[in-house]
Amino acid sequence: MIIVMRQGCTEDHVQDVAQRLESLGYLVTRIVGVEKTILGAVGGEEYAKVDSIDQLRALEWVEDVLLITKPFKLVAKESRPGPTLIDLGDGVVIGGDDIVVMAGPCTVENEAQLFMTAERVAKAGATVLRGGAYKPCTSPYSYQGMGVPGLKLLAEAAKQFNLKVITEVMDPRKVDLVCEYADILQVGTRNMQNYDLLREVGLARKAVMLKRGMSAKYEEWLLAAEYIAAGGNERIMLCERGIRTFETATRNTIDITAIPVIKGLSHLPVILDPSQGTGKRDLVFPLCRAGIAAGADGLIIEVHPNPDHAIKDGSQSVTIEQFEEMMEPFDRVAQAVDRRIAKRPVSA
Ligand code: PEP
Ligand code: MN
Repeated sequence: MIIVMRQGCTEDHVQDVAQRLESLGYLVTRIVGVEKTILGAVGGEEYAKVDSIDQLRALEWVEDVLLITKPFKLVAKESRPGPTLIDLGDGVVIGGDDIVVMAGPCTVENEAQLFMTAERVAKAGATVLRGGAYKPCTSPYSYQGMGVPGLKLLAEAAKQFNLKVITEVMDPRKVDLVCEYADILQVGTRNMQNYDLLREVGLARKAVMLKRGMSAKYEEWLLAAEYIAAGGNERIMLCERGIRTFETATRNTIDITAIPVIKGLSHLPVILDPSQGTGKRDLVFPLCRAGIAAGADGLIIEVHPNPDHAIKDGSQSVTIEQFEEMMEPFDRVAQAVDRRIAKRPVSA
């Protein structure tokens, strides 16, 4: 790191800062300018670094502290020779050349709704079934999800139609339970900075999809992923699901820029959720195409057999027929960027 001392500081002030750094294990080099003195510090303990930067910044004679290395390590692109490939088994790999499509209802409502959706999205080419059994709701009076019976339905439908399961876990105490039924644990936007939950999914032996907090900066999002990786679970994918902006015409504003930026900063796969991202059924198709073109490794799309009667998120859920029509154009966009849509494993 680089420490810029304020103009007019004394030799004692510089010594004080240099000693603090040396006691943390840094090797300190001094650059004396015409107006200011600058200290360059290399080495030092990774864990002491984060808090010591804050302490240094608080000192009256320190003008600025600049970091040279990124605050996230394990998820940083430099930490691996290539992209992270998340192998879910049965030929479903996220982060490789093939773009994985996850589809299903916002909320698991009942057996008929889930099984009908699962069958048709599978036939259309989806490889992962989505559906919430635990719903994070802004209102405590809104439907909170089926819970365990919903998880069971997801696992049964996925088995029958040869799909993998992604579903949300909100409670650190329920991580083991959700792991029994899911292939991918979804951490929702409202929980991106729920550090107890991040630590817990970091201990799990299941892949995790970490949604971007609705007002999170890229660095905060990657540091949240770092929590999971630091727990030992590096099977993480990041999901852009729209952020809060001043625009009210759509539910959120999809930050397409996030896709190439995150892929430049991290080796983790990036998924796009155009459903929460726009809040509007008609915008799902164009935004999916934009996401594929921008380099997304997967899409997660809300599909409902009868969106007008969906318990939740009907306005942003596409019909099964609309979903079926999307898959072929998706493949053409994917081919235009030298990729293709992942094909479903053949059995079942
Ligand atoms: C969802 O996928 O249905 C959901 C609640 O997502 P988010 O956390 O992005 O709002
Ligand atoms: Mn939803």
